[in-house]
Amino acid sequence: MIPFSPPRIDEKVIAEVTAALQSGWITTGPRTKQFEKNISAYNGCKTTVAVNSWTMGMQVLLNWWGIGEGDEVIIPAYTYCASANVIIHAGAKPVLVDLNEADFNLNVQKVRDAITPNTKAIMAVDISGFPADYDQLMVLVNEPAIKDQFSASNELQEKLGRILILSDAAHSFGALMNGGKAAVQADIATYSFHAVKNLTTAEGGALCFNLPEGFDHDAIYKEMCIKILHGQSKDALAKTKKGNWKYDVEEPGFKCNMTDLQAAIGLIELERYQENLDRRKSIFLQYDAAFQKESWAITPLFETSQKTSSYHLYLLRIDEASEAQRDAIIQEIFEQNVSVNVHFQPLPLLTAYKKRGYQMDDYPEAYRKFANEISLPVYFDLTDDQVQTVIEAVRHAVSKVMGD
Ligand SMILES: *Cc1c(COP(=O)(O)O)cnc(C)c1O
Repeated sequence: MIPFSPPRIDEKVIAEVTAALQSGWITTGPRTKQFEKNISAYNGCKTTVAVNSWTMGMQVLLNWWGIGEGDEVIIPAYTYCASANVIIHAGAKPVLVDLNEADFNLNVQKVRDAITPNTKAIMAVDISGFPADYDQLMVLVNEPAIKDQFSASNELQEKLGRILILSDAAHSFGALMNGGKAAVQADIATYSFHAVKNLTTAEGGALCFNLPEGFDHDAIYKEMCIKILHGQSKDALAKTKKGNWKYDVEEPGFKCNMTDLQAAIGLIELERYQENLDRRKSIFLQYDAAFQKESWAITPLFETSQKTSSYHLYLLRIDEASEAQRDAIIQEIFEQNVSVNVHFQPLPLLTAYKKRGYQMDDYPEAYRKFANEISLPVYFDLTDDQVQTVIEAVRHAVSKVMGD
């Protein structure tokens, strides 16, 4: 069976995790701090805070920004449930918008239509690793009429004076845009290092801050480190200094710090990340070369003059396949011992959001994309022979279900 997205665990990773274990320091410590510095350097962002998952990192971020009751956050209808859940837990309302035709990202015109005086943030999602239209979103939130209707409810929001642009970059570590890393296009880019992501720490995440001039990023770093550790004024490492046992709790915080065992994996993953991207790109190109010859295939956009994907997911679509036919094709592919997936079921198809009144009919492009989409395996250890096996399995399954 060709798996869908196994982690890359080899002697190097095992040696670094072992070294962390043998150091006697297993929770947040020197490896986490180093990992944060390396991520900032890689992305060119102003500061980075490592956390135990994207979800909890974003939850703390929304809390820090003061998003709650009565506020709205705009997200695409086509995303993982985490994007909506954190907004709901913050007490705010996720406002869903439909997608672009050309890619899987949220449509800026639809975002414009969805903005109200209650909009506090836009959370774009770089689906499959292809960056959203951050430059257009930045222009939009800076338009005088849109800035005028923005109402700040605390000092941070006042200082920014406009809608916050968040990037759910769970798929897009290393993606490029306008000549630099996509990470610095948003005010804050947020990563997931879950086991299936491009760069993993088993579970984990990072918040990369790139707010405008006037925000003190050293102060933000300190504040976030306190917020992710119960509001405690000192972390465990600081408390090991002689006689330094006493701490205060400044406000009730969260608990979602990254451990040094996770950071040990991340340090190795980041050190060799370019070879990971190169391998992924080569797999994308092989899929593209094969499927562009097929009249039934709609291949995904992953490179333009302005943007380059991080090659996280290859989102193949089968032209004219209904949802039921797509499901049958997936079954046939699995019969040939190849694992595939669907990214994602749009939120209005899922019970939790249906119950909140979201309707699939309001997001026709998201449904069209979902109904005939199949995600193919992409990972460093996938061999060229296996790529050919996947291609053959897809061809065979499509001809069996759709006819020749
Ligand atoms: C994986 C994923 C998340 C959640 O990340 P966790 O680290 O598991 O919390 C959020 N958004 C998207 C788009 C994802 O794919």
